[in-house]
Amino acid sequence: MALTGVEIFKMLPKTNCKKCGFPTCLAFAMQLAQRKVSLDACPDVSEDAKQKLGDASAPPIRPITIGAGARAVKVGEETVMFRHEKKFVNPSILALAIKDTDSGDVIAAKINDCLVSEIDRVGQKLKIDALCLINESNDAEKFEALAKAAAEKAPAVAVILCTENVDAAKAAIAHFSGKKPLLYGATEANAQEMANLAKSSGASLGIKAVGLDALSTLSDKIKGFGVEDIVLDSGAKTAKDMLEHNTYIRRAALKKGNKSLGFPVINVAIRDNNMLETLIAGLGIGKYASIVVLSSAQKWKNLVMFTLRQNIYTDPQVPMQVEQKVYEIGNPKAESPLMITTNFSLTYFIVAGEVENSKVPAWLAIMDCEGLSVLTAWAAGKFTAAKIAAFIKESGIEGKIANKELIIPGYVAILSGALEEKLEGWKITVGPREANALPSYLKSRTA
Ligand code: SF4
Repeated sequence: MALTGVEIFKMLPKTNCKKCGFPTCLAFAMQLAQRKVSLDACPDVSEDAKQKLGDASAPPIRPITIGAGARAVKVGEETVMFRHEKKFVNPSILALAIKDTDSGDVIAAKINDCLVSEIDRVGQKLKIDALCLINESNDAEKFEALAKAAAEKAPAVAVILCTENVDAAKAAIAHFSGKKPLLYGATEANAQEMANLAKSSGASLGIKAVGLDALSTLSDKIKGFGVEDIVLDSGAKTAKDMLEHNTYIRRAALKKGNKSLGFPVINVAIRDNNMLETLIAGLGIGKYASIVVLSSAQKWKNLVMFTLRQNIYTDPQVPMQVEQKVYEIGNPKAESPLMITTNFSLTYFIVAGEVENSKVPAWLAIMDCEGLSVLTAWAAGKFTAAKIAAFIKESGIEGKIANKELIIPGYVAILSGALEEKLEGWKITVGPREANALPSYLKSRTA
């Protein structure tokens, strides 16, 4: 039974030390009662209280790790319905499906598509996270051969074994000893055997039922067999059902404290049409799917889903930012140009990328403006002549360059006069407004 904030408060240390990030123990207790925070955030809570708080301290959606080592992926642990309330925690896993009826060439190509899918976007590595091996043939030998190929060619990649055939599951899972695969295929008919296999092999268990009532019943049954790490498949096939089921499951777990549905959700987005599949996958990423299974991994498709996922799982209250310092691009010399911009990640990576493209070595001064872009920072009074001058003086760049010239973004040309007053002896030059004009601008300066 859920505890109220006041009941939880009585078990906290009541020192109001603020280590949890809240001003008082009561404020923290209220958030805990709503399952918006984890009890772990209070370092001083007693073991006795931890035990008594029981369910109130457990995450409403159980965190589950699939895979092992550097490419292990974590799902679940979400605490809010909407990202503006706090943030979404563990990004949806994208899993590439391979069927055991695919030819050897197709299997090899798909494994390779997963391995080479990684891209760098605003400083984060984004990729296809997992392989979903499908026992399309219902044949244990064929499924084992596919599992063996994946284990050999992509040993570090997290794996989902999709089969309802217990013999096939046993044969395949033997190739992932110690690698915490997700065994995806427990049903009402095979529940006991699949639960036993998941427990003996250290796997989490994906359970399948048609409809939420049946799913809830199956979840309780599987838990009764001693399996704790469960992933839910409600059997939703259409976009409408996916949206309804995923939303209901998230709401039931967070708002009603429903323990039967307090687990991550898997959606199979596979469609004949790639454009439609991308849309369906986007729906899953946006609305509560922890795992989305895809049929293929083309670059355009990956980019759409990576970008969407990154945007949704970025904390909206904390702008992405990079460290304040003067970055060296292309081994700059004393005569190389010096530019300045703000520390919003997107701004930094776009500007730095364009400077690299220009092949003109340069100094890039990145100023801490709390992660705001140039115009926003200027409008907020964080990218002003006085602050820029102070940063440039403190940065030590003056001792490294021959010409005291600072190139400012074209959008803040208005600052040039005031900057020349604040930075005595410096020449202030107005650069391009848009980063994509930097290569031709920098090249023209050296021509
Ligand atoms: Fe209270 Fe614990 Fe938060 Fe400190 S860290 S204010 S003791 S709840």
